[in-house]
Amino acid sequence: MSVTHDPYEEAKKQLRQTIDLLGLGDEVYEALAYPERLIRVRLLVKMDDGTTKTFIGWRSEHNSALGPYKGGVRYHPQTNEHEVIALSMWMTWKNALAGLPYGGGKGGIRVDPKKLSPGELERLSRAYFAAIADVVGVDQDIPAPDVYTNPQTMAWYFDEYSRIKRGQYFGVVTGKPLELGGLQTRVISTGYGTAVAAREAAKKVFGGVEGRTVAVQGFGNAGYYAAKFLSEMGAIVVAVSDSKGGIYNSKGLNIEEVKKVKDETGSVINYSNIERKITNEELLELDVDILVPAAIENVITEENADRIKAKVIAEAANGPTTPEAEKVLTSKGIVVVPDILANAGGVIVSHIEWVNNRMGGWIREEEAKARLEEKMVNNFHAVWDYWQKKLDTSKYNMRAAAYAIAVERVYRAMKLRGWI
Ligand code: GLU
Repeated sequence: MSVTHDPYEEAKKQLRQTIDLLGLGDEVYEALAYPERLIRVRLLVKMDDGTTKTFIGWRSEHNSALGPYKGGVRYHPQTNEHEVIALSMWMTWKNALAGLPYGGGKGGIRVDPKKLSPGELERLSRAYFAAIADVVGVDQDIPAPDVYTNPQTMAWYFDEYSRIKRGQYFGVVTGKPLELGGLQTRVISTGYGTAVAAREAAKKVFGGVEGRTVAVQGFGNAGYYAAKFLSEMGAIVVAVSDSKGGIYNSKGLNIEEVKKVKDETGSVINYSNIERKITNEELLELDVDILVPAAIENVITEENADRIKAKVIAEAANGPTTPEAEKVLTSKGIVVVPDILANAGGVIVSHIEWVNNRMGGWIREEEAKARLEEKMVNNFHAVWDYWQKKLDTSKYNMRAAAYAIAVERVYRAMKLRGWI
C-alpha cells in the first residue's frame, strides 16, 4: 500500500518532538507551527503561441525572529501550499542551526519548467517576482534558487525587482550569476557542503571516507557536486540517478564523464560504462556505505526504511526521510546527517554573497570556499557532540540534536524580542 505524505504534517511532527524534548510546551509550539505570512499569487503568462496560461505560486515566510526570511523558490509540477510551508519551516531551522542572521522562507510555483520555452520561463519568473515584490527585499525576505531554478532565474528576479523599485538591489536575491554579484562558490556550495558533512560523518563511523562506497539519488546541482567532491575525497561513487532512472558500477563511476552524458543526452541512464541500470528505488537500497538522497522529499519512508543498508545517510535533499522511517533507521543504528545540517552549504554561501553585495563586492572566492568548509565542519561537530553528550543515541538520531539546537535558538530570539 502506498502512503502519501504531507510534508507540512511531517514538519509539524518534527517540531512537536523537539518542543517536547526541550520541554517548551504548547505556547511555543503554536507560535512556531504556522508561517508568519503566506502569500498565494495567480500569475498570467503569455505563451509563445499567443494564448494566456494561469499559474499558481506561493511565498511562505515562516519566522523572522533571527532576521529577514531566507530561502529558495522551486518550480515543480507537484509543488503545493503545504510543501512550501514545510520547506519554509525547515529553512528557519537550517538558518538558525548554521548560525546565520536569517529567518526562514520558501517559495514555489506549480509548473513543469521543462515544458516552457526560455521566453515563457522568463515571463513567468518576472510575473512571480512582481507579484511578491512588496514582501521581499534586501532586509525583508531574500529568495534564492531551489529545485529547477538557477542563476538565470535569479537574474530575472533581481532585474524585475530593481525595475519596480527603481534601484540596483543586488542583495534581494542570492545565487545570482557571477556577472550580477554572484559567487562561483554558490554554484558548488550545496553539494560541496554535503560532501564535507558526509566526510565528517564517515570519519566518525568508518574512520575516514577514502574507499567508502557511495550512492547518490538525484544528479541536479546538489547531487552532481556531492558525487563529484565525494569522489575527489577518495570515496567510490558506485551509483547515481536522475528522474529517468539510475546507473550502477561496483568499481565506481567517473562523475565528470557521467555529467557530460547527462548534459548531452538529458539523463545519466545513457552513460555506457556501467554494470547495470537500476531504478531510483533500488538505488536507495543498495549495499553501500554512504547514501546521499539529493532529489526530493519523502523518498525514505516506513515502506523501504527496513531495506536501507547504508550506515551513513547525508541528506542533500530537503525532507527525504519521513519521521516514521527515521525511527527505523535509528533502531538500526544508521547515522542520518539531517538535511538542515547536510545541505546548509547553499544558504551559508548565500549569506556570504549577500554580505558581499552589501559591501559592494569585496570577498574572494577562496575566502568563500574556506568559510563554507569551516562552517560545515564546525556545525557538524556541534550537532554530533550535542547528540552524543546530551541525548540517548539509541532513541534519538542526529536530527533530534540539530532540531534542538535550532529551535532553542529561534525560541531564545523570540523571547528576547518579547514575542512570547
Ligand atoms: N534552496 C536552498 C535551500 O533549501 C538555498 C536557500 C538559500 O540559499 O537561500 O537551502
